[in-house]
Amino acid sequence: MGSGSWQRFGTKATVEDSLGMSMRDFRGRIFLDSSGTLTWSGAGDSRSTVGFSVTWGDAPIITLKYRWGGEVVVRIPVHLQATPTQFGGSRWWFTCPLIVNGEACNRRVGKLFLPPGAKYFGCRTCHKLTYRSCQEAHQSQRLLGCTDRWLDSMNRRDQLD
Ligand SMILES: [Zn+2]
Repeated sequence: MGSGSWQRFGTKATVEDSLGMSMRDFRGRIFLDSSGTLTWSGAGDSRSTVGFSVTWGDAPIITLKYRWGGEVVVRIPVHLQATPTQFGGSRWWFTCPLIVNGEACNRRVGKLFLPPGAKYFGCRTCHKLTYRSCQEAHQSQRLLGCTDRWLDSMNRRDQLD
């Protein structure tokens, strides 16, 4: 993790290349003083791990902790938000912790990603991630539905930049 050497120039990072965590991965783990580790298996025997611990302010906060670039320890507090479900329960969401050009993203998302070479987890929009199938579709111009989504993400990228 963190070398980024295989990220080809001119190619956008994809969801498939990134470490991704879903709110589902934390099911049953959102309570005060909960902690644990998420592990991803990569090429060969390589593994990436991210530790987490849960604290509680007005709402739960998942603090992610991991090594980046071999030695730097990164800690990111990720605030959770709840939305009511139709059955009177609540569903938890991540709040994207990234700040892009001085503006906090704060998007409510079900997944956070760490693209190759990136230091912080964030939402797909902040990391400008696309899906590999869409990149191929964009290059070949065959799948219009995917191309549209690609253009949509490019537009949002322009706004963020
Ligand atoms: Zn974001």
